Amino acid sequence: MEPMFSPALHRQRHQFVIDFVKRNKPKKVVDLGCSECSLLKQLKFHREIELLVGVDIDGAKVKKKMHGLAPMSTDYLQPSNDQLCIELYQGSITQRDARLRGFDLVTSIELIEHLTLADVERFSEVVFGYMTPVAVIVSTPNSEFNPLFPRLAGFRHSDHKFEWTRAEFKSWALKVCLDYGYEVEFTGVGQAPLDQQERVGFCSQIGVFHRLGGREVYNMLYCDDAEDVFSYTLLYSKNYPSLHDNNILRRVLATEVLYWAEKLRIRWVEEKTGERYNAYTLCQAEGEGEECHRASEQHLEVEEKQTATGGAAMKNLMEPQEVEDEQLFWTDGQGQQESCKLHRCVSVPLAVLWSCCPKVSALSGSLSNLRQLLMDDPDVKLSQDGSAVLLNYQEQGTKKKKKKDHGALEDSGYAEVRQCSLSVDPEEDWDANV
Ligand code: SAM
Repeated sequence: MEPMFSPALHRQRHQFVIDFVKRNKPKKVVDLGCSECSLLKQLKFHREIELLVGVDIDGAKVKKKMHGLAPMSTDYLQPSNDQLCIELYQGSITQRDARLRGFDLVTSIELIEHLTLADVERFSEVVFGYMTPVAVIVSTPNSEFNPLFPRLAGFRHSDHKFEWTRAEFKSWALKVCLDYGYEVEFTGVGQAPLDQQERVGFCSQIGVFHRLGGREVYNMLYCDDAEDVFSYTLLYSKNYPSLHDNNILRRVLATEVLYWAEKLRIRWVEEKTGERYNAYTLCQAEGEGEECHRASEQHLEVEEKQTATGGAAMKNLMEPQEVEDEQLFWTDGQGQQESCKLHRCVSVPLAVLWSCCPKVSALSGSLSNLRQLLMDDPDVKLSQDGSAVLLNYQEQGTKKKKKKDHGALEDSGYAEVRQCSLSVDPEEDWDANV
């Protein structure tokens, strides 16, 4: 009976790479012979990777599924702190391209057996001698395993130019190490029955190469005056939404600020109409007669933060503001105003938002950053001195809010996400289980 692998052999090969990535946390990874990008689609979830690149000589194959690499709606709705750029190229790995230099990890999964032996030599020179990555994973069929496929005549795939025994693979790999300054470990995936394992080895043999001298040697190698060559064609390039992008940070922050400011406004109005409110003390200041309700836990939390920060912004908060019309205030429990109604506007101080909304403080870092980031946002109306968010006293137009959320998503590429299908890949037919 022919050996069947569970999980399928191509999945085991990809899992081998993923396990390596989890252990070694490379930042820049390139998959050579990426075909329909199935390994890349799994690697993109490992957000320690900042640059993920695929190369294949067959551009049509790459294009077929490359849109499956696009960010998903959650990537836009909750942009990550991490950065990720994905690039796909059409080109032959027998040729140099300067954009592939200096990577942490190069993977070549079931690729070399599709090259002529002369091209394998070029592959070695380009990958190990020119690209000089920190680590390389090469997998290729182990021909000693083939007798376990009784119906197999010849190679496992019609496009294979050779299939090596373990000794042949080892001999090539050791020469590469000697020529280009690497060391290699041999392993594999796809186990034979227990009693035959030693005799036939793994179905897919794998060499894991590490550059001698590791990362330190990189700068030395990379900074030589080798000519920059760009022989590949860029097919796809996508930057994932990230909070490192100032526009995205502003958008997320504005949404969060408006959400919390609106929440506070609603509570304020509720309090005004006599309903219970428990976040802050509300005072209705009418001359001397202040009517205050103390809030317990949250109030204390705010006080603690105020003590800890103790900055000028907090001091500002304590300073009396000029109030007009109906004179309604949020207070910090010590008779100081925090929010007030001015000309039919509710004014929510940034200091309050900063100290009571953890996400707002985490995103902005400081009160002055918060002010700076909100300054030019078209959806956030700040008071003249920039110290407070102004909201309409009456309920905010829900239409506007909806429009804003929608707009934010359109701006950040949400429309593209909606167009792209999130379908599960069908099995690939390339060497799927051999
Ligand atoms: N690595 C893929 C995976 O693990 O799912 C499958 C690889 S498939 C068996 C071999 C791939 O190598 C094909 O997509 C083929 O187009 C590509 N290829 C063949 N010769 C190449 C070359 N000289 N440079 C780059 N890619 C090449």
